[in-house]
Amino acid sequence: MYNVKSKKATEFIDHQEILDTLAYADANKDNEALIDQIIEKAKCRKGLTHREASVLLACQSEEKNEEIYRLAEQIKKDFYGNRIVMFAPLYLSNYCINGCTYCPYHMKNKHIPRKKLTQEEIRREVIALQDMGHKRLALEAGEDPKNNPIEYILESIKTIYSIKHKNGAIRRVNVNIAATTVENYRKLKEAGIGTYILFQETYHKDSYLELHPTGPKHDYDYHTEAMDRAMEGGIDDVGLGVLFGLDKYRYEFAGLLMHAEHLEAAFGVGPHTISVPRLRDADDIDASAFTNGIDDDIFAKIVACIRIAVPYTGMIVSTRESQKCRERVLHLGISQVSGGSKTSVGGYAEAEPEDECSAQFDVSDTRTLDEIVKWLMDMDYLPSFCTACYREGRTGDRFMELCKKQQIQNCCHPNALLTLKEYLVDYASPATKALGDALIEKEILNVPNEKARAVVQEHLKAIENGTGR
Ligand code: SAM
Repeated sequence: MYNVKSKKATEFIDHQEILDTLAYADANKDNEALIDQIIEKAKCRKGLTHREASVLLACQSEEKNEEIYRLAEQIKKDFYGNRIVMFAPLYLSNYCINGCTYCPYHMKNKHIPRKKLTQEEIRREVIALQDMGHKRLALEAGEDPKNNPIEYILESIKTIYSIKHKNGAIRRVNVNIAATTVENYRKLKEAGIGTYILFQETYHKDSYLELHPTGPKHDYDYHTEAMDRAMEGGIDDVGLGVLFGLDKYRYEFAGLLMHAEHLEAAFGVGPHTISVPRLRDADDIDASAFTNGIDDDIFAKIVACIRIAVPYTGMIVSTRESQKCRERVLHLGISQVSGGSKTSVGGYAEAEPEDECSAQFDVSDTRTLDEIVKWLMDMDYLPSFCTACYREGRTGDRFMELCKKQQIQNCCHPNALLTLKEYLVDYASPATKALGDALIEKEILNVPNEKARAVVQEHLKAIENGTGR
């Protein structure tokens, strides 16, 4: 049996245990008494084990699945209200020495233009992002110790935080770079990053080794234990994810939840976020050549089951997904979305010429940030540009503690209203502003206490007349 308290993810995310979990889920997928029992447990909002959640994922009964969707939606509302946090990716460099067979940045791709932003180009990209209204970025880079050493990443973070332009300022830089050393994680922490994000790609070791045939990423153990080292280096907000389409989704789902359980058991804090990317076509990558792709129904079920299994973990869906698909999963558990994204190196300040495309994958949702903000509000969601938790030091276990007590809403709701107001005043189109102002007026009534409400109202007024930031 695997060791729950082990400091190493590889000892805990055990292949045999995942196979046993899948067999258990298969054997019980029509066991309505057990499914009811698991749903009842899920209603306590304390999460589920990977085995329990895998039974729900395998469940075929339409009636029970409807119950699962309803519960996921309710849990999402309880923990996150109607807030949706906004962010954009910023690709720094697509130089890469790995051989990932699904990613166009793989080393053997000789025709994709290789680009690396200079600090001046980063400034231009960030100003363009600030002019859209973004406050949170996810930095992306290929793995290449010569072209993209940690010093380059650290310098880029420093540049980004230093850029003040009109009313814009990037307040939170999350980082998605290759697995690295404890020492480098410590440096990233010192540089003031928000979440360190690293997708496992696949938890299936044999597939992993085949999909990453060459380069440092080939080392499954080093990659899988990255979050352990990140925690050791002092980063307490880490973001997990698998790339759905690489291996069988039920295997990945169990592995992902085991990874979350391991972090909680070993470090006392689960993942801050879980991302659910699906494989997309890209430069020399044909996603249909990978035979484990999942359809929108299974994708929605995965999101709902993750929501139920780890209620306190944020969930991210990117512009890999279409508007229609994003609409569906927002209801079931997503708490963060990207908007107005470019997956190329450069492209925010100036569009890339078509024959120079350096994009990592094709974006499905190509709308502008303003369109995304309006779309969310049309559905009664409250777009939030908030980063207050991080600035107030509410990260890691302190954040989880608040979140588990469903307290995070008391801080988040007013912060969401204020940052949305900033967005409306500084960047929104007239139609978005009108809709947003009406939404804020309605939502302010949900600030629980009267005194707090009055303070928020005062701040809102100050933002409107340009005196409060
Ligand atoms: N170099 C870092 C690493 O190795 O983890 C950062 C990775 S990359 C910039 C971000 C993520 O994009 C990858 O982890 C992978 O899951 C995803 N990705 C790669 N190719 C993709 C594709 N064809 N479609 C969708 N997502 C893809």
